[in-house]
Amino acid sequence: MINSFKSDLLSMLRTLPMLKISDEFREMIRDRADIVEIIGKTVALKQAGQDFVGLCPFHEERTPSFHVVPSKQFFHCFGCKVGGDVFEFVKLRDKVDFVDAVRILADDLGVPIPEQESQDPKAPKGFSRKLQHRTLNEIADFYHRQLLQNGQADQARKYLESRDIPLEWWKRFQLGYAPSGPDSLFAWAVRQKKWSYNLLTHLDLIGRKSEGNKFYERFRGRLIFPIQDEPGNVIGFSARRLPPDTFGGKYINTRETDLFHKGRILYNLHRAKEEIAKSGYVIVCEGQLDAITLTMAGMPNVVAAQGTAWTPVHSKMMRRHTQQLVLALDGDVAGQTAAGAIFPKLAAAEIDVKVVVMPAGEDPNSYFQKHGVDQLRALFRKAIDFFDWQVDRLVQESGSMTEAQKIHRIDTILGFVAALPNPLYRASLIDRLAPRLHCSRQAMEEQLGRLLGHAPAARRTEPANRKFPRVDRFQLTPEELLLQAALSSRQYAEMAALELTPSEIPNTPPGRVLQELLQISLESDVEWTGREWNHLMNGETGTAISKVLMQPVPGDWARAARDAIFALKRGAIEQQVDALNRKMSAAPDQIDLILRQKRKLLDRLVILHKIHECAEE
Ligand SMILES: [Zn+2]
Repeated sequence: MINSFKSDLLSMLRTLPMLKISDEFREMIRDRADIVEIIGKTVALKQAGQDFVGLCPFHEERTPSFHVVPSKQFFHCFGCKVGGDVFEFVKLRDKVDFVDAVRILADDLGVPIPEQESQDPKAPKGFSRKLQHRTLNEIADFYHRQLLQNGQADQARKYLESRDIPLEWWKRFQLGYAPSGPDSLFAWAVRQKKWSYNLLTHLDLIGRKSEGNKFYERFRGRLIFPIQDEPGNVIGFSARRLPPDTFGGKYINTRETDLFHKGRILYNLHRAKEEIAKSGYVIVCEGQLDAITLTMAGMPNVVAAQGTAWTPVHSKMMRRHTQQLVLALDGDVAGQTAAGAIFPKLAAAEIDVKVVVMPAGEDPNSYFQKHGVDQLRALFRKAIDFFDWQVDRLVQESGSMTEAQKIHRIDTILGFVAALPNPLYRASLIDRLAPRLHCSRQAMEEQLGRLLGHAPAARRTEPANRKFPRVDRFQLTPEELLLQAALSSRQYAEMAALELTPSEIPNTPPGRVLQELLQISLESDVEWTGREWNHLMNGETGTAISKVLMQPVPGDWARAARDAIFALKRGAIEQQVDALNRKMSAAPDQIDLILRQKRKLLDRLVILHKIHECAEE
């Protein structure tokens, strides 16, 4: 009943003109909203020390890992890693955007929305889902006809042929081409179909230029993959750049609309669902072309995560269809890292994960082109259990690793074990993995216990709020460690701002928060009030902030900050060395020059180590 009330309220609010929320209004709502009270309405919270904990509403769990911190007015889940401020919570709870979240909170608190907040004459009127679906289906047909018939689509057809995708499959997957000029979608949709600018803007097919009343088309000169929801309605598009064009991103997608939510889309699920039921498992690959290739190769039970981060919603969608999942990510470091990032989210939904080991640099499509259908199928038959894959990799690489690196890797593997909700499964895995890792079972169990937040029996003296899972305690990256220090006091932010160049800070969510914080630290010299990063407390930056704020604090802040700065500088140099190594194999004629550059970098590395050691003493 509460939900239907909520959706009534929402649809009523939706009929209002679109809001623009001023910073003052947002901060006024933030001040009045008590995060414990708001979250307490949907989550049963128990006090634990200064925090409150409960079962996370965003992933399924039996032991609480969802924390609310009233002193800092944010929440964080150690299981699925979501977190942020009160607006972020309402956004996730009601699956609305930021503006709606502010409206809902204002309404809850009985704060009237001022007139000037609610006037936006340019806002499009609402469109029914039926109309949007029908329009998008027609547009997918339009793009498809262009691919088959339009002279402009030559590059697209050549590209598909170069990837060994025959005509029959263009039709089955309704692939398309977005022409430009007089043949464009815009000309057809507005002149022939008489669709309104507002409808096309609403569907994110055209955008308004910032100055004047000019429009531009979102997709031009690109190969088009229609994206369908689970019932099979077209809800948006993914558009691939075509060679030799180099303008814009390789793929651009429809932005969030009221139909298209990136975190809830799995490409090809509407075609694959029956095959998933039949075969009993699903294959998850990275891109649309891989999904098409695998379907061609007789593995139609495939979906593509299409480059967006895997969300707990994706896990739940999969769990409704099957409990067995095979990850077929690209055979590069990024693919391996992605597998590690996805695994805990799948484990939380109690999905068993196998991994197809792609040779380095290959994806399913390139492997198929080089080796053919039979070998591709053979490769997939050899999919191995996620943990065996992790251990195999460690065993292969351990020859060139230091003892500390090995232990760190074992810790990472234990972190994956800790992500499994079932204690029986965890115990049997330890039995299986201990001999292969040459570790004693007892030591592994003890470390697993620490990762799970259980103090060992002999030393059970930690405070009560420590008994909840803290699986990521050992897994902070250098930029997260530095962010933790920079948030704790302005002086560490300033210290980092003076020592690091922007290129030494990775372009990750915590890295981006750090960049901004370092900038702010140079512009003022009063201690933080905590308001400085309010505007970053939502989305992925909010998650990054809440994650580090939930970590245990180091004993010595200055030293922690120095260590993190050192690690970032070293990481940046190591990346340059890697780049030179790659260049060396690509351009053997420049080997002398490259070796000299490498020598310089290694010298810098040595100096960096020396400085760091001096600071330690
Ligand atoms: Zn969670």
